Amino acid sequence: MNEFMRQQRHGNIHVLRIANPPVNTLRTDVRAGLAEGLKAAAGAKAVLIIGDGRMFSAGAEMTEFGKPRVPPSLPEVFAAIAEFPGIVVAAIHGSALGGGLELALACHARVAAPGAMLGLPEVKRGFVPGAGGTQRLPRLIGAEAAMDIIVTGEPVSAERAVALGFIDAVLPGELEVEALAWTRGALEAGRRFTLAANRVDRIAGQDMASFEAKAASLLKRTRGQESPRGCVEAVRAAVTLPLEQGLQKERELFAALVAGEQSKALRHIFFGEREVLRVPGLPADVKPLPVARAVVIGAGTMGGGIAMSFANHGIPVTVVERDAGALEKGIARCRANWQRTVDTGRLAAAEMERRAALLKGSTDIGTVADTDLVIEAVFEDIEVKKALFADLDRLARPGIVLASNTSTLDIDAIASATRRPELVVGMHFFSPANVMRLLEIVRGKASSAAAIATAMDVGKRIGKLSVVVGNCDGFVGNRMTGKRTPQVEKLLQEGCLPQDIDRVMEAYGMAMGPLATGDLAGLDIGAAVRRARGTVAPIADAVVAAGRFGQKTGKGWYRYDEKRTRLPDPEVERIILDTSEKLQIRRRAISDQEILERLLLPMVNEGARILEEGVAARAIDIDVVFVNGFGWPAWRGGPMFWADAQGLPAVRDKLVHYAVATGDDNLRPTDLIEKLAREGGRFSAAIA
Ligand code: NAD
Repeated sequence: MNEFMRQQRHGNIHVLRIANPPVNTLRTDVRAGLAEGLKAAAGAKAVLIIGDGRMFSAGAEMTEFGKPRVPPSLPEVFAAIAEFPGIVVAAIHGSALGGGLELALACHARVAAPGAMLGLPEVKRGFVPGAGGTQRLPRLIGAEAAMDIIVTGEPVSAERAVALGFIDAVLPGELEVEALAWTRGALEAGRRFTLAANRVDRIAGQDMASFEAKAASLLKRTRGQESPRGCVEAVRAAVTLPLEQGLQKERELFAALVAGEQSKALRHIFFGEREVLRVPGLPADVKPLPVARAVVIGAGTMGGGIAMSFANHGIPVTVVERDAGALEKGIARCRANWQRTVDTGRLAAAEMERRAALLKGSTDIGTVADTDLVIEAVFEDIEVKKALFADLDRLARPGIVLASNTSTLDIDAIASATRRPELVVGMHFFSPANVMRLLEIVRGKASSAAAIATAMDVGKRIGKLSVVVGNCDGFVGNRMTGKRTPQVEKLLQEGCLPQDIDRVMEAYGMAMGPLATGDLAGLDIGAAVRRARGTVAPIADAVVAAGRFGQKTGKGWYRYDEKRTRLPDPEVERIILDTSEKLQIRRRAISDQEILERLLLPMVNEGARILEEGVAARAIDIDVVFVNGFGWPAWRGGPMFWADAQGLPAVRDKLVHYAVATGDDNLRPTDLIEKLAREGGRFSAAIA
């Protein structure tokens, strides 16, 4: 027995306690401890497996992935459970996830603390459960219910698991005491348990037409992602093949998927989302300032969503508007948003009222005197913001953080309007702010570690994923997508229609193509930016000149029917063809591959520049921004991951090719790309 497993005999019940807190991953020592513990239990009538720390077990130890397997494997441990002459009971508190749940499923019985969560999230890491989960769960609860859990990767509560049939009892009170009593009761009653592996009652006679219909509905939203398909295949094997062959099928699917590019991408993002929270240059011991309440200035599109995020997470918040009318409208929009969620059954009406009560409104800027944090979300105008920050600095308590939600303006210029530049940061939310998880925290040149730590702490408390970025036009996300826009215009001039470009990007896995996204955001915004910068985009300008501002005017790059379905519009095609002709460009057929490369490469090149400038600390920061704020599919790993997968020499050569072919200087490879290509380097390891 090793330090990761503790054992204790209670009469004829042998307790094995997994001691690898906080989450009890099933590292080699734990698996060995279970195997030895089962031997040591000889003579006992039952074994009770329970966990220390926060949860029963979070499953496999991800850092052991890709390394040579050290025995015993989980299936070997499960075989030892099956061979144990008495019964083996899993007692679950917190969560049992992945391999942790598979361990429980391999036991004779399972009991759980109230509210414990049970799930098989492997699909979200790009593979299938690999230790029998796809074969045992269907045998316990039926194939279709199991498929729901396995394909979505979403955990279910212990209470729901009892109803489904894979938890035997929910036990309130001290779990070990209660589980011992439950097991003793089962022994005394002479209750017989059949291992999942030996059951067929729930899968026999499965209606395959119904199975396939369920599979199709679950796979509808997964686009090009492979692991959900693998999960369906594994569950199908549970129904159509004997156990041993089903387990073999599961192992094959697991091995193939885990070695694939999509799983690498998903694990890159999974680890990356933890990595971004370790901010280089931020001392580990810096304490965030206390924030018990917040004020948001401006109750427009963004201010309302930001305020909702606070209320959604139990933090009192006040929105300040210029006049009573605007305030009323802003708060009504928040209520309408919540009401929609109530209407779809995803929010209880009482919970909506609790949240709404936390969100107050005011037209008096003086309210900031009594708050711990101010987030400004007024018009994007530097003079307006500077004047406002001078007021905020005067009215708010000294020592509190003043944040701006600006998308493009200079945080240092805003900070300079105050006498506390060290406490001014950007908190750049993404629309809709109550939904989108990304929060870019912009570090100005004077921003203190405490101010950054405060913004990060608040971000976490309101359910956001914070990425700290440097101060520049567009920060990371918008700056990179901005470099894609000129290529969109050129592709349209040379031969594409909006639907061609969106189709390619959506086939790649993006939630929405760039032109449909433009229609959603409003095309007049881009036009205003071009006017301000003195740039032209003949086709985009002509579309806006035709009064096509996007969804808000019912037409933009597409026309929209009453259900907001987008439809290709002959008028747009005419504008595009006319413009090409005027520009004397001979339109040609453009391959999907070229479309994809011309949209991704400019972003990668700008990403490299962002790394060179230190605006992002690491390539993973950039990838996390795109996955959480720009609808980039996690299974593609983000733009920098894509570039690494292409290989930097290929990226450099293609950039050179397109820079020449399209006359876009932005596509000339940056020094960092040249260097990595020369040295055989990768973004993922490079810190500029
Ligand atoms: P908006 O026009 O919807 O809202 C701005 C609100 O601020 C209006 O309701 C206005 O009445 C109010 N306001 C203006 N001056 C004020 C003052 N002095 N005191 C109180 N209220 C005042 O604009 P928005 O889209 O919410 O954008 C707000 C900010 O967020 C801008 O800086 C913008 O760049 C940034 N941003 C916008 C998005 C987006 O997608 N819309 C995304 C990220 C960041």
